[in-house]
Amino acid sequence: MGKITGFMEFDRKDEAYAPVEERIKNYKEFTKPLKEAELKDQGARCMDCGIPFCHSGCPLGNLIPDFNDAVYRGKWEQAAEILHSTNNFPEFTGRLCPAPCEESCVLGINEDPVSIENIEKNIVETAFKNGWVKPEIPVKRTDKKVAVVGSGPAGLAAAQQLNRAGHHVTVFERDEKPGGLLRYGIPDFKMEKNIIDRRLDIMEQEGIEFKTGIHVGVDVTAEQLQQDYDSIVLCGGATVRRNLPIPGSDAKGVVQAMDFLPQSNRKVDGMPYQGEEISAKGKKVIVIGGGDTGSDCIGTSIRQGAISVTNFEIMPKGSTARPEGQPWPFWPMRLRTSSSHKEGAERVFSISTKRFNTDKDGNLKSLVTAEVEWVKQPGQRPVLKEVEGTEKEWECDLVLLALGFTGSETTMADQLHLEMDTRTNIKASAADYKTNVPGVFVAGDQRRGQSLIVWAISEGRQAAHYVDQYLMGKSDLPLKGEGDLPRV
Ligand SMILES: Cc1cc2nc3c(=O)[nH]c(=O)nc-3n(C[C@H](O)[C@H](O)[C@H](O)COP(=O)(O)OP(=O)(O)OC[C@H]3O[C@@H](n4cnc5c(N)ncnc54)[C@H](O)[C@@H]3O)c2cc1C
Ligand code: SF4
Repeated sequence: MGKITGFMEFDRKDEAYAPVEERIKNYKEFTKPLKEAELKDQGARCMDCGIPFCHSGCPLGNLIPDFNDAVYRGKWEQAAEILHSTNNFPEFTGRLCPAPCEESCVLGINEDPVSIENIEKNIVETAFKNGWVKPEIPVKRTDKKVAVVGSGPAGLAAAQQLNRAGHHVTVFERDEKPGGLLRYGIPDFKMEKNIIDRRLDIMEQEGIEFKTGIHVGVDVTAEQLQQDYDSIVLCGGATVRRNLPIPGSDAKGVVQAMDFLPQSNRKVDGMPYQGEEISAKGKKVIVIGGGDTGSDCIGTSIRQGAISVTNFEIMPKGSTARPEGQPWPFWPMRLRTSSSHKEGAERVFSISTKRFNTDKDGNLKSLVTAEVEWVKQPGQRPVLKEVEGTEKEWECDLVLLALGFTGSETTMADQLHLEMDTRTNIKASAADYKTNVPGVFVAGDQRRGQSLIVWAISEGRQAAHYVDQYLMGKSDLPLKGEGDLPRV
């Protein structure tokens, strides 16, 4: 795999970013691609390690050493085939995946791991540029109709797989354009929206029907879908936001991240939005909550012209090194710094917000925090404790709550009498994605809770296999890691 001595000859090289002062002037992606020769060297770093742990590190089971080898040999079309055999949308994961595969790369034990994610992005971009990504229209159609609810990465992956099996697939989406959080959550500077449109165009040519602006459970009942379709796959995401129930949280200026980000994405795309404009321009912004959503709020606030952006994180500042007790090849909880963090945000750790202060008209003026520590007693879970005498007031006029999601909405589940799990997600096992109602399946964040794009694609693919099996008695759709590897 790769060049046998490649990992000793070449250092890891990542894409460069446009300078901060340049990139914050607009919402465009700002990475500078490596040259082809450099990418081949990066592919050559993949060692013949024997057991490629990266396969299991990747939730899709991507055939990483195989595509690295093809890139090293300059066989880009073959690399694209290998990549697409396990991943429907490498253009999403190649830009947005936190790359758990790289944490489990064998080279990563004592060197920088292979730059798998960047290689993945370049393979799929080369494929699109050369016209190798073509619609795969099924040769034979079945007489089965499947409704997919939700067009995030889980719904899109399920739809594409089921269409490949020959079924008639309709995707229902309540927003006016498909994409889910890829379109309305994640800002353009992380992924421009033409990247989604280009893939949707191919899916439409493959014969998948998209019905947008339809809220299932409201505009059409879930029972109606049950009557009209042979099977339903629910991929509605985990959309119930976590609140911060502290005094003053109804102040004008305390805003949910998922009100702020979708509105900003709509503005960038020239789409209309409902409600008052939320803008960070000229404001002192505090983003409460780390994670991807918090980081996206930082980058967006800076681009909107915030005077200052501060980011609060309740957890202590981690180390950039792999912590003890989280050995290779597992995913380590270490300090991660995104490109948005580097654009001028102050990060404060081990901090908890106690109350918001307003003026007489209810406008946010400041908030009060305390430092916190996690106290652990033997045999018990760590408990959060305030450090006495650490109260501090912070002036601010916009607070963005990026506290994650508590589960999925229940309207469709109620209409179909579906069981929920203890975390308010629709209950189904990852062994077959079946709910308690025959013919109704669930995948992505609506099943597993808030997660990652790579997991959503993986769940959509897996669920499609079991839907196909339910409809036809058997399925040839691949399960995780069962890519149809082209012969080298
Ligand atoms: C701001 C933000 C940034 C993120 N950044 C990253 C990142 O960089 N990398 C990463 O890996 N992950 C990231 N994530 C997580 C990732 O986006 C999600 O895990 C992933 O999108 C889940 O996919 P999904 O298809 O299950 O659901 P979603 O993407 O949430 O899609 C669900 C879709 O279902 C639709 N829907 C829901 N109910 C109905 C209904 N009743 N009728 C019709 N349509 C309905 C919704 O409108 C939506 O379009 C981020 C999340 C957020 C919020
Ligand atoms: S999808 Fe994510 S985990 Fe899988 S190979 Fe790509 S970057 Fe790695």
